[in-house]
Amino acid sequence: MTDCDFSSDEASNAFTLTPIGRIASDYPDKFGIPRQPGLASAAQATLTLTPPFDDPLSVRGLEAFSHLWLTFVFHQSPTRWTPLVRPPRLGGNVKHGVFATRSTHRPNRLGLSLVELVKVDTHHGVTLHLRGHDLVDGTPVLDIKPYLAWAEALPEAHSGFAPAPPPSLPVTFSAAAETRLLVRRDGDSLRELIRQVLAQDPRPAYHKNAQNKPERRYGVRLRDVDVRFYPTTTNGIEALHIEDIIVLSSPT
Ligand code: SAM
Repeated sequence: MTDCDFSSDEASNAFTLTPIGRIASDYPDKFGIPRQPGLASAAQATLTLTPPFDDPLSVRGLEAFSHLWLTFVFHQSPTRWTPLVRPPRLGGNVKHGVFATRSTHRPNRLGLSLVELVKVDTHHGVTLHLRGHDLVDGTPVLDIKPYLAWAEALPEAHSGFAPAPPPSLPVTFSAAAETRLLVRRDGDSLRELIRQVLAQDPRPAYHKNAQNKPERRYGVRLRDVDVRFYPTTTNGIEALHIEDIIVLSSPT
């Protein structure tokens, strides 16, 4: 039996939390990651538990669940927080109370994400294979809980300033980009990841409101590539066009 004593400092009312594992993710940077899980179902990750939490007994029965809640630390966010934040969904111009948002800049820097469980691997310790997450590579995870749809799925609930998923944009690929994908073993899943991530329009909010500058180029890193893209408008319909896919390291 692994005995873990999680200390709390009654005097300062503070608690010390220890990560149970870390995420290895398709997202090397925060930029471009969809704002919530499920928006890019093609996003893959693994969660490898670290000793003493990597005991296969601790995940017995988990494979019977299709989705998990992950409690994690926004370790790439500052510890400083403010009571008012500017949700990107509102263009960055309107302020809401931090507790009325899912902002990454919050007290205790705690995040909560509902992810799909693909596989539980207990050959060497414990590694969970996940999909559809919104976590940057290296994210420390504090807890895992199985999702209970009968208790937690409330489609009739009110969701304030975020009543529905953000709109998604059409995404087109150049011939050069398609050629890069053709030579990769993960070409199909990478194409789907790129399409899903760019459909969420990762450009900064203030660029979206500004007049379309077709000369402006953007790049987002996914897996081991840098995806170069720019906005286009055809018959008034805005889209994002993938100009090229630059391999940052030798293809997998
Ligand atoms: N689903 C979680 C929640 O509601 O608590 C996260 C929502 S938050 C708006 C999603 C954003 O967090 C992503 O778009 C990404 O930019 C950022 N992010 C992901 N992992 C992070 C980390 N470890 N540290 C800081 N920011 C992170």
